[in-house]
Amino acid sequence: MTAPTDTKAPVTATNFLRNAIERDLEANTYAGRHWGGSPGDAAHHAAGPLDPAKIRTRFPPEPNGYLHIGHAKSICLNFGLARDYAGVCHMRFDDTNPEKEEQEYVDAILDAVRWLGFNWEQNGASYLFYASDYFDFMYRAAETLIERGHAYIDEQNAEAMRATRGTLTEPGTNSPWRDRPAEESLRLFREMRAGKHAEGSMILRAKIDMASPNINMRDPAIYRIRFAEHHNTGNTWCIYPMYTFAHPIEDALEQITHSICTLEFEDQRPFYDWVLERLAEAGLLAHPLPHQYEFARLNLTYIVTSKRKLKQLVDEKHIEGWNDPRMPTLAGMRRRGYTPESLQMLAERTGASKSNSWIDYSVLEGCLREDLEGKAPRAMAVLDPLKLKLTNWDEVIGAGRVEACVAPAHPHHPEFGERRFNLTPEIWIEREDFEEIPPKGFRRLYPPQAGQAGNMARLKYGYVIECTGCEKDAAGNITAALARIVPDTKSGTPGSDSVKVKGVITWVSATQGIATEVRLYDRLFTEAQPDAGERNFLDALNPNSKRIITAWVEPGLANAQAEQKFQFERHGYFVADRVDSRAGEPIFNLAVGLKDSWAK
Ligand code: ATP
Ligand code: MG
Repeated sequence: MTAPTDTKAPVTATNFLRNAIERDLEANTYAGRHWGGSPGDAAHHAAGPLDPAKIRTRFPPEPNGYLHIGHAKSICLNFGLARDYAGVCHMRFDDTNPEKEEQEYVDAILDAVRWLGFNWEQNGASYLFYASDYFDFMYRAAETLIERGHAYIDEQNAEAMRATRGTLTEPGTNSPWRDRPAEESLRLFREMRAGKHAEGSMILRAKIDMASPNINMRDPAIYRIRFAEHHNTGNTWCIYPMYTFAHPIEDALEQITHSICTLEFEDQRPFYDWVLERLAEAGLLAHPLPHQYEFARLNLTYIVTSKRKLKQLVDEKHIEGWNDPRMPTLAGMRRRGYTPESLQMLAERTGASKSNSWIDYSVLEGCLREDLEGKAPRAMAVLDPLKLKLTNWDEVIGAGRVEACVAPAHPHHPEFGERRFNLTPEIWIEREDFEEIPPKGFRRLYPPQAGQAGNMARLKYGYVIECTGCEKDAAGNITAALARIVPDTKSGTPGSDSVKVKGVITWVSATQGIATEVRLYDRLFTEAQPDAGERNFLDALNPNSKRIITAWVEPGLANAQAEQKFQFERHGYFVADRVDSRAGEPIFNLAVGLKDSWAK
């Protein structure tokens, strides 16, 4: 006998991060921490009460571009863990680099995180922080390291520093400035800060071990001279901390417990710990210190996620901006019709692992289909219209009359209500639903063939019709299909199924439907790994990633609200574009087809 499965077990799969947090909670690793009410040093936090947050995580983007699907994974992970373990997740802008950072990006990032469904405000407190607010502390930390013999000013030029760094197999060699007196380094560091030295003329380095097998521990740089204006601190500073020095300090000032980053930072963990330990020894920080964990970044096929490359696509106008519906940015995906729930689903399904892998783009599309299936009301739309004339209208329905049709808004959710539209003597059908000479097995409309009547099919929510022929222009192109209504077959009326047909046809009234712009999007790249190896990713751009058509849709869709999603029956999921739609004139974007058209 097998044990009954616990159906109430949380759906969230466990992973090494959850395990680590659960171990820490059990061991009370962080239970004695205090929280000073805002980020700060050891003394600041010691003066506050016990930290009510069981754990603290953070999402720390650099405001130098728009967030993409990879960031969504990190957001879901960090905010999700804090939510699940009675913690707090900090929203932190890692803005220690004076270049490339702009307010536009800050705003777009906050917007995207909120849209994804997460919030940095809790019980009236805001946990939105800017790393540049910690410059004073970082400077003080650097002076402390110098005073305690853990850092020195190196006057070698960049080339000499590179040459003495060693390789993976050979140790580096000490700088001639390595053993200069601490007072001298301190004086020079202060002069650096005062703007007395040129960019590149000297640098502050940690004094660790030039023979360390980990190259990151060979006296890494921690402060450099940059005469650059900073978006937050203006011209206050002309020296800026290196990322690898700044990051552990940011975490510690914010009392982060679990600092989660991507695998590339694994080799940086020893330096992360080194910085924090040295500052704790000096009393600037207190134990328990934050701990860094690395997980595999999300790699999705058929997209690029490097912000530099995304920016290049925007700057060189290969697409129409950061929020182009083909972009893997959250702004673009939102416009494309992706829902927060579908992205959360992707994050959940791809889990947190320690080894890099590629996730197929179709997994993402599958998440969206799954989310929209139960949520999106249905509608009929004709994307490639051919006119169909119902030639016996006057006899069956009556001249000048229309036939009211009713359809459920969703086949499995009666509570979504009903759609109402009229069948009229002329309607639009998909061009592919009529064949003058039908291929074998064709079930939709074709005219009488040798010795055989025209085929019958059902107009969805309407009558069974029998195809009688077609009209052509002088050049022989088919301009309209012709059919007769089979009386007494109206969907939903008694006896309507007495005539059996194999094909069902979607349609829109030619006189009452509305013509609307539809943007058919496809993958932006034709290669699964557009930026693999030495390849120029631009060579893999899909020239057919956007096609604009005029489609005919049910009259009710004139009222579609921006961002409202529909399943266009038999075609796929479409969303009313949130940027270009006008009141009463929606424009629809193809979010995802009903089936994976790329699968072999
Ligand atoms: P890029 O290298 O393109 O500039 P980045 O990783 O440097 O991107 P940040 O703004 O520094 O971008 O990233 C913020 C957070 O998002 C980091 O913690 C980073 O680890 C995480 N992140 C970025 N890309 C991914 C990804 N593909 N999968 C998971 N997490 C990611
Ligand atoms: Mg970065």
